[in-house]
Amino acid sequence: MKQYLKRAWAEISLSGLQSNISLIKKLAGASTNIMAVVKADAYGHGEGEICHCLEKSGVKYFAVSNLDEALQVRGFCPSGEILILGYTPPEYAEQLAENNIIQGVISREYALELVKNHKNVRCHIKIDTGMGRIGLKYDTPQECAEEIKNIISIDGLSVEGIYTHFAVADSDEANNIKYTDNQEKFILDTYDILESQNIYLEHVHFMNSAALCYRTNPRSTLARAGIIMYGLCPNYPLAIPNGFKPVMSLKAVVSHVKTVKKGDCISYGRTFVADHEMKIATVTIGYADGYSRLLSSKADVLLHGKRCRITGRICMDQLMIDVTDNNAKEGDIVTLIGTDGNETITADELASLYNTIGYEVVCGISKRVPRVYIE
Ligand SMILES: *Cc1c(COP(=O)(O)O)cnc(C)c1O
Repeated sequence: MKQYLKRAWAEISLSGLQSNISLIKKLAGASTNIMAVVKADAYGHGEGEICHCLEKSGVKYFAVSNLDEALQVRGFCPSGEILILGYTPPEYAEQLAENNIIQGVISREYALELVKNHKNVRCHIKIDTGMGRIGLKYDTPQECAEEIKNIISIDGLSVEGIYTHFAVADSDEANNIKYTDNQEKFILDTYDILESQNIYLEHVHFMNSAALCYRTNPRSTLARAGIIMYGLCPNYPLAIPNGFKPVMSLKAVVSHVKTVKKGDCISYGRTFVADHEMKIATVTIGYADGYSRLLSSKADVLLHGKRCRITGRICMDQLMIDVTDNNAKEGDIVTLIGTDGNETITADELASLYNTIGYEVVCGISKRVPRVYIE
């Protein structure tokens, strides 16, 4: 293992990732390939090692958000299929072609701009069936199919598939399930209309993590698996299926332990005042490491298998915890996300404390925090 500073670090469990991948393969079924979503540095897990591990697990399709990420992934996976889900300025069409990258195409105008710049661009066409973000937007699958035919006829563009993105696949409310059913029906109807006119596309895909967890559809040729690959939940309070394990743990160390008297204040703003004699430990992680300041006085950390509450405001590089009932000493390892003994704190638990989602917690762990890969 590479040397790293034992101050604040993220442990990434590659065996955890592999076991999540085998669970996803089961959920996806035999007719659906996994497209691993590795955008945003593999949701903060480090795309290089994650891509290598995914390739070893047999994953052949990758999705990213932009060209920079696509080129990085191309470096790690020379033979992988890489789809850019988001926007690439059309003047980069040549780079797309040279690196054999598939671009998501969101309109005929955009497709024309791409081929103006280079005459050999692979793409999947994005259809907006209800997410309201990007893609072709039509009232009927017939109209949508007509426009797809127009795009297919553009010289220099190779259309290999169509895809759409669900907005509420993570909900079990009846009206949301209906909404997702309609999104799914729209893209499959569009695909079937094209097929009835002898236009055969290799791919039609719409499954994301939430759909993998709570729905099934063997017709999605690819399942774009993001958050569940990393072992986190697409939404609360719905639970992630059994067996998935969080891949990332976040750790730091105790730098200082002291006893404070009743009335002593801890940290900026004096928001925490000891109401009895307490033992306080300082921990070597702060909001500049991506551990949100919104967790001040709210979150627990684990030390010697026990929960300790954060006392007062989280600083840029340090935070303080209550270790009155814990024999903390300098150098002890503190777990901010992960398991210690019988206790576990997940990114999802932290997220719920400040009204966000686990996605933002793991993506937010900053560059300063070395990623350490373990089995
Ligand atoms: C990010 C993203 C995904 C993955 O979403 P998860 O909820 O993490 O599975 C899939 N498709 C598109 C278009 C995305 O932008």
